[in-house]
Amino acid sequence: MISKKMLDLGTKRSVIRDIFEYGNKLAQKIGAENVLDFSLGNPSTPAPDEVANIIKEMVTNLSPKEYNSYTSSPGDREVRIAVSNNLNTRFKTDYTEKNIFMTCGAAASLNIIFKAIIESENDEIIVNTPYFPEYKVFIEGQGAKFVPVKCNKDLLLDIEAIENKISINTKAVLINSPNNPSGVIYPKENIGELVKLLNRKQKEYNHPIFLISDEPYRELVFIDEHPTFLPNVYDNTLVAYSWSKSLSLPGERIGYILVPGKVKEYENVFAAISGAARVLGYVCAPSMFQKVIKHCVSVEPDISVYRINRNILFKELPKMGYKAANPDGAFYMFIKSPNDDGYDFCERAKKYNMLLVPGEGFGMKEYVRLSFCVETEKIEKSIDIFKKLISEYDGEK
Ligand code: PLP
Repeated sequence: MISKKMLDLGTKRSVIRDIFEYGNKLAQKIGAENVLDFSLGNPSTPAPDEVANIIKEMVTNLSPKEYNSYTSSPGDREVRIAVSNNLNTRFKTDYTEKNIFMTCGAAASLNIIFKAIIESENDEIIVNTPYFPEYKVFIEGQGAKFVPVKCNKDLLLDIEAIENKISINTKAVLINSPNNPSGVIYPKENIGELVKLLNRKQKEYNHPIFLISDEPYRELVFIDEHPTFLPNVYDNTLVAYSWSKSLSLPGERIGYILVPGKVKEYENVFAAISGAARVLGYVCAPSMFQKVIKHCVSVEPDISVYRINRNILFKELPKMGYKAANPDGAFYMFIKSPNDDGYDFCERAKKYNMLLVPGEGFGMKEYVRLSFCVETEKIEKSIDIFKKLISEYDGEK
């Protein structure tokens, strides 16, 4: 009567959501201030004032029709011009509104891209591990094979391992930098090697291999080297962007897909993106928030609290003996469990009302993910708990 696949997806909650629900129940019992909930990537920094100001101005000065009506399917033209101008200023590109398709956030952008490019069930999308768990759901949901490739020891792209997984069926390689869950930013050289490999493989198989760049954390960067803007180094790049994290608007569902003019058969690809958005019901992204973006596209995100939290963790945890990837961007730290068992570490942390996410869902079960988009006080409180936790393992050796 109904799809078994969808029933399974609808009944099995994600591990992250399970922990979040557990945290909510615990908060009712012992008070939210006593729960160190580091499970969700829900930005703690509020949206910048410019967002509320422009909404007030809209509802005061415009007729509702001007901000509640449908826009054109790919989004309001002026909004897309504002987005393309912003990219052109920052990345020295020459995009126009014809390169931008407004969407309901990165999840929608990715699903639209997959739907647009996947032709058969043999198609494969390569994903670097560790990865955002929903990638598997999106890729399989749109009918292709999810092909994870383990990262190297520094949690960067392992180019040789990627090469071993690329085949004639490879449709795309998906990367996410700054990365959820590791916070890693792939350095220029690492990206350069990937680009070389993809160019070589495209020639060998005589068809394009897309590089899909999932960029909700593009502006959340704590080091001098910003992530490479991939369309500037690889022609067949498609970008999935979202303002969920950079402007702290995760509930408003607003983002875009960038289809650069250098993409092979760009016009057809853009048309397929439009077709896929139509099938998935993602045409006309929320119109009020499209207009918010028109006015706020150049507003810089406030990452000051995330930076303080990141610096505390990055200073204290390695001193205690924890191994973790450099959290250079985003707001996550991916920490290796002392006994290589992420589940075990999360269970032990629960005893102290500290909630982390086991790494298995991200493809690396030895790790746990800590989201540090929380009040600094909670990060400070966690330090003693991390000390106690690691000492438990000492006694077990
Ligand atoms: N991609 C990554 C890597 C994410 O971490 C998230 C959300 O946490 C998304 C995509 C989905 O973002 P959005 O809220 O814009 O749909």
